[in-house]
Amino acid sequence: MKSQNFIQLEHDFGAHNYLPIPVVIEKSDGVWLWDVDGKRYLDMMSAYSAVSHGHRHPRIMKAMAEQMKKSCVVSRAYHTDQLGPFCKKLCELSGFDKVLPMNTGAEAVETAIKGIRKWGYDVKGIPAGQAEIIVAGQNFHGRTTTIVSFSSEKTYKHGFEPLTPGFKEIPFGDAAALEAAITPNTCSFLVEPIQGEAGIIVPPEGWLTQIREICTKHNVLLVMDEVQSGLGRSGALFAFQHENIQPDGLILGKALGGGVLPVSAFLATDDVMQVFTPGTHGSTFGGNPLALSVAMEALQVLIDEKLIEKSAKLGGYLMQRLKDLNSPLITDIRGKGLWIGVEINPDMVSARKVCEKMADLGVLSKETRKTVVRLAPPLTITQEELDHGIELFAQALKSFG
Ligand code: PMP
Repeated sequence: MKSQNFIQLEHDFGAHNYLPIPVVIEKSDGVWLWDVDGKRYLDMMSAYSAVSHGHRHPRIMKAMAEQMKKSCVVSRAYHTDQLGPFCKKLCELSGFDKVLPMNTGAEAVETAIKGIRKWGYDVKGIPAGQAEIIVAGQNFHGRTTTIVSFSSEKTYKHGFEPLTPGFKEIPFGDAAALEAAITPNTCSFLVEPIQGEAGIIVPPEGWLTQIREICTKHNVLLVMDEVQSGLGRSGALFAFQHENIQPDGLILGKALGGGVLPVSAFLATDDVMQVFTPGTHGSTFGGNPLALSVAMEALQVLIDEKLIEKSAKLGGYLMQRLKDLNSPLITDIRGKGLWIGVEINPDMVSARKVCEKMADLGVLSKETRKTVVRLAPPLTITQEELDHGIELFAQALKSFG
């Protein structure tokens, strides 16, 4: 078994900051992955939604190959022929005025935090050093020291103190708690419209509308982290569109890179984005031409291949089929679009064991929060492929009772 050798090498020479499912991937194509021993797996995980377009999408690979012949990284010391068109396309698609491109999701969240704090001082007039940001319990926004400072998960922050102050937590889905937490120093409510890492938690119907109204009433910026929920994953281009609201700021990542490169962005109204002046923020790789050529094609593929509509339709189908399994191991099934969390009764089996069994059978997922199996295939999946995944998932569950 070649796999064991690679796992051993990783163990011996790599940091142990992940606990991967014990498969060693060598090749990927569309919705399929192959390990170093030639075994094939259906991808029901999509690299935490980064691979919504499927692996190595031909159009995205072609756009990247074309751009590689022209320029890759030139830094923001100069203008490029990619940055303007990219920002224009994203603004037109999203309804925001301006875009600030970065690389990873966490960097775009950091960018948003800087932007909303500075807006708090420069525009809202909050006294220096007093800006507060409200966040939701069980949030996940990344792993930088500032971001873990407002995580409710102890493992994410313990041992990394001193933490960054200025954050206040309220329960996710509780509009009254948001209004009660707002003070004259509150600059923003930063929130995922559907919580991903928490286990695909969908807020109560009407909540997005309520938080929009509360934020407007109190002159507080509503900023949505759609790094995982965005770009079709939830069956809408953006999850906030399920209630037809428009936030003041938006954070994108993962699928923006077309499953090929890290590309993220902070999008906002002019009122917010004008706080960034030369020198206040930057990134050597952020907005590089290679990344942006990939991102532009990734956005166009979403539209041309109707992946958003597909996510909504096949997501509904997946939800129904999972309910029809009537498995005694399942205590809850929730989600929107091709993004479903299946809650497993921990007294019967751990979500981890279910995912390991799924891998044995040839379908890949990954547990989140110990009790949830996440089903989030590439949005390019066909109904037949999805049926195959559901069959294997059902078989995995059956093996535990
Ligand atoms: N925000 C959300 C909602 C996420 O789900 C994630 C990653 N799971 C991030 C931010 C961080 O993204 P990255 O890992 O690219 O830094």
